[in-house]
Amino acid sequence: MSSSIADQSVLTECHLEALKRELGFREQIATFLVQTDLVGHVQQVCAEFYRQYLAEHRDRDLLLKPLIVRLPLQYESLAKFDPSLLPTIIEAPIYFEQALQEVVLSVVNAHFAQLEPVEQQQQQQPSPVITVRLQQIYCRIRLQLPPRECYLFRAQPQNVNTGLTVFRCVVQGYSSLQKYILHSVWVCPDYPAAHLAITGEIRRAPKCEECGNETVLQENLRIRTVGDYYSVRAFSADAFRTPVQVGRIHQSISVRLADDLCVPVRLGHEYVITGVFNPPNLLFNAWAIEEV
Ligand SMILES: [Zn+2]
Repeated sequence: MSSSIADQSVLTECHLEALKRELGFREQIATFLVQTDLVGHVQQVCAEFYRQYLAEHRDRDLLLKPLIVRLPLQYESLAKFDPSLLPTIIEAPIYFEQALQEVVLSVVNAHFAQLEPVEQQQQQQPSPVITVRLQQIYCRIRLQLPPRECYLFRAQPQNVNTGLTVFRCVVQGYSSLQKYILHSVWVCPDYPAAHLAITGEIRRAPKCEECGNETVLQENLRIRTVGDYYSVRAFSADAFRTPVQVGRIHQSISVRLADDLCVPVRLGHEYVITGVFNPPNLLFNAWAIEEV
């Protein structure tokens, strides 16, 4: 028994260390956002969100809409800021994205918390404090890495870099402008005010997790938000320069250009695209695009 208690305390210490690391990482991100005035960016988005809510006569439904925050990060300022932040972003971009989303959420909710009391005085009636959920925050990180050898994305199926990489490529083809569901809100018909789910991509209507009787939720279509994307097929520029042997073709990669990155690309033109390769769907998600 004594050994199991000792094991438990070791486990707790490990957890505590991990928690400290996670908190430290978020603090580091928060400091960076303040130093580069990206916090101002986030607050502008909040102000616009609030302005729309007031314009629609404080329709509480609108408080479930998404907050889309575009964050242009500069490689140089990241490199100067703290030697450990940039490598983490490059090695674990999805982990960074999730931590950033949480930091942005705390900035957003802090903004709304200090805004509400003023409103209450004007209205002479208490209004509930606005609290945004994590699923409502969408961070669009825009970061262009320099096309150095160490950052280059190579389309080798056995050894794919899943960090943030730079894909030097030549456009082979592209889709027409497509739509995707960014944000949808689902309410429980039995408790419309209390039970709801927020989700992005939908395959089927979600079930209520709180009723316990598998009630199928209904979508509040007023809040559905869609985004734009282009699907682009591209060859690695390096592969393009090597001669093709009979019976072999160059491996092309699907690149997704979404939202503000939906720029019309040109066939046969060379681009430098910074992004993250997602192995399950073999898709390179762009964070930035530049024509060479
Ligand atoms: Zn329910």
